[in-house]
Formats: sequence, structure tokens, C-alpha cells
Amino acid sequence: GMLGILKAGGAYLPLDPGLPKARIEAMLSLSRCSTIVGHERWGEDFGVHRYITLEHLDVVSLEPYPAVALSASSCAYVIFTSGSTGAPKGVEISHAALGNFLAGVGPAIGFTAGANLLAITTLSFDISLLEIFLPLCCGACVYIADEALVLDGFGLKNYLEQQPITHLQATPTTWKMLLAAGWSRAQDFTALCGGESLPTDLAAAIVKTGSKLWNLYGPTEATVWTSAYLVNTGLAQLLEDKQLSVYLGQPLANTELMVLDDRLEPLPIGAFGDLWIAGEGLALGYIGAPELTSGRFLTDASGKRIYKTGDVARWTHSGQLEYQGRSDLQIKLRGFRIEPGEIEMHLRLHPAIDDAAVVVREYGNDQRLIACVIYRENEEPTASELRSHLREVLPDYMLPQHFIAMHQFPVTASGKLDRKKLSASEEQTLASTQQSIDRQTHL
Ligand code: AMP
Repeated sequence: GMLGILKAGGAYLPLDPGLPKARIEAMLSLSRCSTIVGHERWGEDFGVHRYITLEHLDVVSLEPYPAVALSASSCAYVIFTSGSTGAPKGVEISHAALGNFLAGVGPAIGFTAGANLLAITTLSFDISLLEIFLPLCCGACVYIADEALVLDGFGLKNYLEQQPITHLQATPTTWKMLLAAGWSRAQDFTALCGGESLPTDLAAAIVKTGSKLWNLYGPTEATVWTSAYLVNTGLAQLLEDKQLSVYLGQPLANTELMVLDDRLEPLPIGAFGDLWIAGEGLALGYIGAPELTSGRFLTDASGKRIYKTGDVARWTHSGQLEYQGRSDLQIKLRGFRIEPGEIEMHLRLHPAIDDAAVVVREYGNDQRLIACVIYRENEEPTASELRSHLREVLPDYMLPQHFIAMHQFPVTASGKLDRKKLSASEEQTLASTQQSIDRQTHL
């Protein structure tokens, strides 16, 4: 379907049928989508659009396509991500940016004909583009995993052991799952890891399997990946001892990474600042949202288009880029990009909720989404009520695992919500009186 849409001169927007209907509707209307290509079983859900059923395509009878008039700036695909203002935002990527990425990433990570890559990422995330298109562009082979395999560490381990797979791209969460399942021997194998910060102990564990390891960094807004860092296998011990960082690496072809201050001036080596990206990979913008676009994509004094990632980083004396964290509230949870603001806005729309704040909390080895809520007077909704309210509009990975009822939120000296204190104070309560929290406030 994807190849057909591109061949016909269209741009594709991946739709996960598991998403709430309201979210799919919002994505379709924002992107002004005209036609849906999909399996027969979902056809009825999308009445208003032209629906092409994959099962009924008679490929043989299709006429050869006429040449389509496309320019480098024509849109190739749109990927939606969580939006801090409450609605998902669609990142619009041009053929020029996609072509630049595919031409640059292969040589950068040494991906050539003969490679066998196992694709495990849902098409809703842009890193799936590397998995599908890079092998096809290089004369390599893509093996497409089914949904069940992706969630099953043991199944994935067995698959890797039985099939001649040479490359796998995954988030740190999936690599952890694979190692926990006992994946331990990986000669002539390349692990591509990205999507969130790669912890040093995980990097050490991966290189100890004998695998080559790349840390890949980049936001959807700059086309899949922006930079790549080859983790030196000889340094596993230093990584394990946390004496070394996993750096973000060198920018891909025709891409620039800059650490700037508030006036968009470059910061000196060693100083942490905002990470900006320039180059061919930058998105056209957010579809149907010019204000959001102009808030993130600026033009610098030299006329160069630059994108503010929201990441904080610094250059080291050895010329490496070191990642520190975010300057905003964006969260990465098991590889999923989440804006707490989007969940909070939908919670505030519930008639029983006065205010809401969503944070991430560590539970042992696990990270969970916690929604702290203040009820309106005489209201006391249950957790399942709040969850079903959110389920109407948000994907499952954005549903908080816990709800905590509070009388008021901690505030900073300037009167703003103090998220750090919010987590700290709950932590104490949760740790000390798990039982009573479960009964009283932990809905
Ligand atoms: P997404 O648009 O879903 O790809 O998310 C992009 C964001 O994920 C980046 O702005 C970073 O905050 C984070 N990210 C992606 N890859 C890495 C990485 N290798 N190291 C640290 N953070 C990463």
C-alpha cells in the first residue's frame, strides 16, 4: 500500500485501526486525506472517504502508471505525534527530506546489499521508514515481523537465532526485552537503537553480545534519524561503570546539529543548551497548523531554516554531542512520544475534574504514567470512569496507569505548578502508605 501510494504520486498517512475513532477522525480531517487503503475488515469504519480494499485489488489489470508530476518539495508522508496543546500534530515530510535521509543513512551506518533487516516497528512511527525503505533502496532484504512477535522477547530471540537476520532496529525498551529473554550471541549482527536515551548499562550489555551497536538520534520533524553514533565495543566496561556517555554522534549527510543559547548564538564547548537542527531533513511543518510550525521552525540570521528539538545537549572537548534531557515536558515512555499537556487537557474536559497534572514515575524497573487530579466539589469519579473518558480520544500508551486524587498541587515561588515537588510528595506517600493510597486516593 505504501509503495503504491508513493508510486501514484500520493503522500501516505499511516492509520492504526486500534486508535480511538475520534483520533483517527481528527487525523483524517487535519491531513485532508482523500482515500484510504486498507484491509476489508476496517472498510466500514471510514464511510466518508474513498476506501480501497487491499484484498480486492486486481494488480494484474492495473494500467501502467502515467508519469506523475511531483517536485522535491511534494509531501511524501505525514506522521502524527502527541501535541502539547491537546491535539495530535501531523509532521509533513517532503520527498527531498526522505530521499536525503535514505541516501545518507545507509553509508553512515554501513548498510549495504546483502543485509537482512527484521522490521518490527509499527508504520505509525517514522522509524519504520528506515526498516521498509532502506533495505529496498540498497538491494538488501526486509523481513517483516508480525505484531505478536514484536511483543514477545522469547519469540523475537528465537526468530533472530533461526533466520539470517543481520540488522534489527528497536527502542531501548525492546533491546532490554530481548536481552531479558536471553539473547546473548550476536556475531555479524548490527543493533540499531534509538527513540530515547540509551542507558550506558544497556549499551554495554548489547555490545557484549558481540553485536555492533549504533545509537540513533532524531525527532520525527527532521525525518527519522538526524545523527548516528557507533558505540565502541572495546569500551563496554567503561560504559558499564558509567564512566562514559553514549553520545548522539555525527549528523547524517546534509544535516547540521547546533547547541544554541536563547539568542540563537552558539554555546561554547561544555555548555549545555538547546539542540537545534538544520538541513535537508527538516519537515515541511505541521499539517494544517501554521502557528505550531512557526513556533518550532525558525529562520536564523543567515537565512537558514532551523528546528528547535526541545532537547538539551552539549559539545564535549572530543567533539562529541552529549544528550542531557528535555527543556520541556515531553516524555518518552517505552519509546512512545507523549506530551503530558495532551492528556491533561482531556482530563480537564471531564465534568468532574477541576485540574490535572501528568507525570512519569519509576516503579522498580518500570516507568508509569501518573495522573494527579483535583476533583470539582462534590465529585468523585472512579479511575475506570476517567480511563474510559480518555480512551475515547487517546491511544492506549497515553492512558495513565495510576490516578491520584489531590486537594491542591504544589506550586513554585512564582505560583506555577511545581512538577518536581508533585512527584516527590507523591513518592513519599506512595512508598510509605501503599495500602491507604490504594484505598483513598489511588483510584
Ligand atoms: P520522535 O519524534 O518520536 O522520534 O521523538 C524524538 C525525541 O526522542 C527526541 O527529540 C529526543 O528527545 C528523543 N530521542 C530520540 N532518540 C534519542 C536518542 N538516541 N537519545 C536520546 N534521546 C532520543
